[in-house]
This record gives sequence, C-alpha cells and structure tokens, in this order.
Amino acid sequence: LLEAQGVRKSYGDRVVLQDVDLTVQTGDVVCLIGSSGSGKSTLLRCLNLLEDIDDGVIRFEGREISDPRVDKRDVRRRIGIVFQAYNLFPHLSVLDNITLAPRKVHGLGRTEAETRARELLDRFGLGEHAKSHPDRLSGGQQQRVALVRALATRPSLLLLDEITAALDPELTAGVLDAVRTLAAEGTTMVLATHEMAFARDVATTVCFLERGVILEQGPPEQIFTDPREQRTREFLRRVL
Ligand code: ATP
Ligand code: MG
Repeated sequence: LLEAQGVRKSYGDRVVLQDVDLTVQTGDVVCLIGSSGSGKSTLLRCLNLLEDIDDGVIRFEGREISDPRVDKRDVRRRIGIVFQAYNLFPHLSVLDNITLAPRKVHGLGRTEAETRARELLDRFGLGEHAKSHPDRLSGGQQQRVALVRALATRPSLLLLDEITAALDPELTAGVLDAVRTLAAEGTTMVLATHEMAFARDVATTVCFLERGVILEQGPPEQIFTDPREQRTREFLRRVL
C-alpha cells in the first residue's frame, strides 16, 4: 500500500530523517517508537505530504506521491491523520465536524454523510453526543471524535501521532480501545506511540527510531523480547 525508500528530511542543516525505508501492506499496523525528537512525527508528516522530503521516494497505492507534480490534496484525501491535539472545530457540532470533509471534499450528500457519521459515532460509543459541541466532551471523547472524523472519508491508510499523549490515563484506555477495534477490523495504520504495552499488543511491525534513523524493525515479539540493537535494548529498559 505504501512504500518509503531512502527518505531524508532536514530542517536547515539539521538532519531529522535519514535513509528511512518503510513498507506498509494493507492490514498492517506499524508502530513507531523511539525517544522524543527521534523523528516519529516528522516521518508521519512526510508520509502525508505535510512536509516535503529532501531525498528518497514515497509510493502510495502504486503512485509516486513524493513527486512534486502530484496533487497533495488528492493524496491527503486517501490518507487520514490524527494528531495529539484533536483540532476539532469548536464552533461546529460533533456531527458537523465529522461530515464536513465527506461533504465538502468528497462530495457526499448531507443525508449519506450523516448516516455514515452516526454509524461511526455509535460504534465508538459517542452516539448521544452527535449534536454536542466539542467543548462539552471529555478529552478522550474528543479524541474519539477526531478518530471518527478521520475515518469518515474512508481513507485507505490512517496515521496516528501519539493520539493519547495529552490524555489522563483513564481516558487513554478508551481511545486505545477504539484503535484496537480498528486494528482488529483490518484498518491499515501507522502510529507513533509512547504506550509500549499497546504497541506490543496491536502492532504487526514495530519500528524503533533513533535520531532520524529506523535502527531496527520487526514483529513486536522480537523487538520487545529480543531486540538486536543495543540502543533498542537501552530504550526499552528506560521505558518499560
Ligand atoms: P516526540 O516523541 O517528542 O513527539 P518525535 O519523535 O515525534 O518526538 P519529531 O517531532 O519528529 O520527533 O522531531 C524530530 C526532530 O526534528 C526534533 O529534533 C525536532 O526538534 C526537529 N523538528 C521538528 N519539526 C521541526 C520544524 N518544523 N523545524 C525545525 N525542526 C523541527
Ligand atoms: Mg512527535
């Protein structure tokens, strides 16, 4: 579904990603782990073309999307992204937040967009909040709305950047459960997380980033119980 090869990104003379190779097949859940500043968010932003890469190629659905001639909006329609800060529109109801892109960008009629949105809200336990404004919801509920909003356009790939980092532990669980449900349904995802137990549970592949390099990647059992790299071992010792 997605393939990155030799991706390099720098800000000024500071190299933030280097020689990054990443393959995502349909149904994969790829978890990016690594210390703060290792480049996880930058990689996600590059995959979604929110950042231009300096070198390398990114292919998505058979197309070379890192080609500057590609219409970025067109690619972003197929790749959903959710950030740590939920970025919901405060002046719109939950339902309008969710149906905005399907209606304005994907050309769905109001009825169809709202039917879809309500199905998703019900599935994530938010059915009764459709008409509420985001500020009436808890952080965990808002983050689940942000997930639903990303899903409403039926992207073929979902990118999640530490979506529980701003939440209290009790609220985190609900959001992680929602992501688990998506994983169980076969949603293809690349997610950055500091939640190691969750990564171990949900990932098909874990990538350990350090200083902009994917130092090691493999199935969660291997990365968490038998890492090959000394640096991975040290990181896990610190965070587990
Ligand atoms: P965290 O776990 O804290 O979210 P991260 O792994 O997501 O960290 P990034 O946010 O990708 O790390 O940052 C990687 C490096 O790039 C950091 O050194 C950061 O300071 C730098 N960086 C990120 N965005 C920019 C920017 N817009 N301009 C300059 N430097 C940046
Ligand atoms: Mg980050």
